[in-house]
Amino acid sequence: MTAIPERVVRAIEDGPKPVYVYDPETVRERIGALRAALPAGSLIAYAMKANGHPAVVAAALEAGDGLEVASAGELAAAVDGGAGLVLYSGPAKSDADLRAAVAAGAVLNVESLHELRRLGAVAGPARICLRVNRAHAALPGTHRMTGVPSAFGMGEDDLGEAVRVAARDGHTLLGFHLHAVSNNLDAAAHAAYLRDCAVWGVRAARAHAVPNPIINAGGGLGVDVTGAAEFDLSALRDGLRDVALGDGARLAVEPGRFVAATAGWYAAEVADVKRSHGAWFAVIRGGTHHFRLPASWGYSHPFTVLPAERWPYPFQRPGVSGAAVTVAGEQCNPRDVLARDEPTPRIRAGDTVVFARTGAYGWEVAHHDFLRLPHPAFRIAATG
Ligand SMILES: *Cc1c(COP(=O)(O)O)cnc(C)c1O
Repeated sequence: MTAIPERVVRAIEDGPKPVYVYDPETVRERIGALRAALPAGSLIAYAMKANGHPAVVAAALEAGDGLEVASAGELAAAVDGGAGLVLYSGPAKSDADLRAAVAAGAVLNVESLHELRRLGAVAGPARICLRVNRAHAALPGTHRMTGVPSAFGMGEDDLGEAVRVAARDGHTLLGFHLHAVSNNLDAAAHAAYLRDCAVWGVRAARAHAVPNPIINAGGGLGVDVTGAAEFDLSALRDGLRDVALGDGARLAVEPGRFVAATAGWYAAEVADVKRSHGAWFAVIRGGTHHFRLPASWGYSHPFTVLPAERWPYPFQRPGVSGAAVTVAGEQCNPRDVLARDEPTPRIRAGDTVVFARTGAYGWEVAHHDFLRLPHPAFRIAATG
């Protein structure tokens, strides 16, 4: 685990806990580093479902080119945040969603022929990309959503008809959307995937007479939330060095996790430390209703202890040193566990437990209102 930056520690200590601290500086750095690894002229649209906090979104807009949204609520937030380029995905957009997207000037990633026909009928001409679930996809591993049955996109055999309908209804067809991957940590494989998207996209654009196509490969760049492995941007860059992007084509990507995961920390106070049937537990004021990822993915999330010297009670402070400690949350529910049997130098009631790499799909996917427990605070790390 890398050390917690001083500005983040200050933000943790600077008010009530539990707290999520987000660091806009990290968001900008991640997007800048990714841009340096992609072909010149590539578009980076941050997928705001990973973390829609206004400060995170603002930082992503400063460093990137726009936002990827997947609901009318996200669309509204993107417009409020001043996004120029908004790419709107989602397989079940309503008529009202389609109208809102056109009114906002968003680019619609159209997910089916039926959606395309509805778009023309209820919302009028739009800027669109066709989301395609390709017949074959070059990505190895278990992360794919393309070349396999899925609820997303249209088949390649629908493309000809889609292009005809788009022309008939006056839409501007900008290119293709091929998002197919989730949490891929293998940068060389991801480069191969992007190259394959580029080759396929240029060929499809030629076949269907789409000028200067945008070939949107979507998100899916991975983050190891335990901090053990890193997505290797130099391997991505090397793998993309001589990518063939003729015909004015531009690559687009929609990273979510990659941008936000390392820009967030979740910190909670230790309420109690106890030994139960030989095992050590630290119980925190917080839990999976704030940070659910370890419980839903079934892993143990590493943590750091920030010691607190203040102990206000006139009796012994519960704690343990040099033990394997399980960090459990405040719910009356045995699944409310964030870390299991983690070797811990020292932990005491009143200390603070900090979980790094919680900036993506952390708060966003947790069951916030279970048990009517309080929500955490949110603070932004101050730079400089
Ligand atoms: C979820 C999603 C993303 C972002 O995925 P990450 O794995 O967080 O990078 C990008 N594009 C679309 C269409 C998505 O649904």
